[in-house]
Amino acid sequence: MEEGTTKKYVGVPGMNSICKSLCLEDGVVARFGVTVGKMDWLQNGSSWSLTSLDGKDLGNFDYVVATDKNVASHKFSGLTGRPPPLDLSVFPNLSTMFQDIPVRPCFALMLAFSEPLAMVPVQGFSFYNSDSLSWAFCDSSKPGRVCLPPNSQSWVLRSTAEYASKVINNMGPRKPSADALAKVAEDLFKEFQATGLNIPQPIFIKAHRWGSAFPAISIGGDDKCVWDKSMKLAVCGDFCTSPSVEGAVVSGMTGASKILGCLNFPSGL
Ligand SMILES: Cc1cc2nc3c(=O)[nH]c(=O)nc-3n(C[C@H](O)[C@H](O)[C@H](O)COP(=O)(O)OP(=O)(O)OC[C@H]3O[C@@H](n4cnc5c(N)ncnc54)[C@H](O)[C@@H]3O)c2cc1C
Repeated sequence: MEEGTTKKYVGVPGMNSICKSLCLEDGVVARFGVTVGKMDWLQNGSSWSLTSLDGKDLGNFDYVVATDKNVASHKFSGLTGRPPPLDLSVFPNLSTMFQDIPVRPCFALMLAFSEPLAMVPVQGFSFYNSDSLSWAFCDSSKPGRVCLPPNSQSWVLRSTAEYASKVINNMGPRKPSADALAKVAEDLFKEFQATGLNIPQPIFIKAHRWGSAFPAISIGGDDKCVWDKSMKLAVCGDFCTSPSVEGAVVSGMTGASKILGCLNFPSGL
């Protein structure tokens, strides 16, 4: 185990507070539980018409920022049975870039212990010699986290992409059964115990599959987003820069500055 001193930034009191506060910004109207199923470019009005997956008209928009790496990919059809929202025949120059962005899968294991792990002297660490585990972090060490029951401690462990690929190849693309996830939880927990850090039985254990956790390539280049000025479209996300929240934020800010530039607003970047 190697202790580092790098500063880490987290949302307080939870990771979702970052998005919650963005939703409260002036002029932001957030709609949840709606999947955009179709994006039509209206040449006459020079705007976009968006339609939901269940066929509802979502309105017309001057600019669109798309954040799904499958916005123009056959993978969208695999998940929904529908063509992808963005028709690549309208964007021939983007077609090879968008068709298949490779991803690295991951399993996350959530654990809670009735007491803090006495033998683990750090708040997070990486595994360098494990086939199945890559990273562990003590969630309770983040500021503002509620410990329930009192004195309990929560940890999140991340699998290696190689372990996740092997398991997902065996279980197939369908939603994993509770038994399959319980087996993953058991495998990963055994590996955690194999550190010899005297890890007790947890009071809560649950594995979660992230089939498309981390993009394996970056398509944004120097622009850090994909921008088509004539079609007033920005495609932004971690797959344009680097597979992290920072990568996603930088890409989104660059996309926003492109749009502000067209509106003759200062970009602030
Ligand atoms: C287990 C795990 C742990 C991680 N830990 C860290 C960490 O500690 N630090 C870190 O920096 N990063 C971490 N990451 C990576 C980080 O979460 C991502 O890099 C980041 O969330 C990417 O942001 P994004 O906006 O590009 O994409 P997303 O977060 O995927 O956001 C895209 C959004 O678009 C929505 N969307 C997609 N398609 C449509 C559609 N058709 N219609 C409407 N909405 C749509 C989705 O619902 C989603 O809300 C972790 C990732 C995983 C899986």
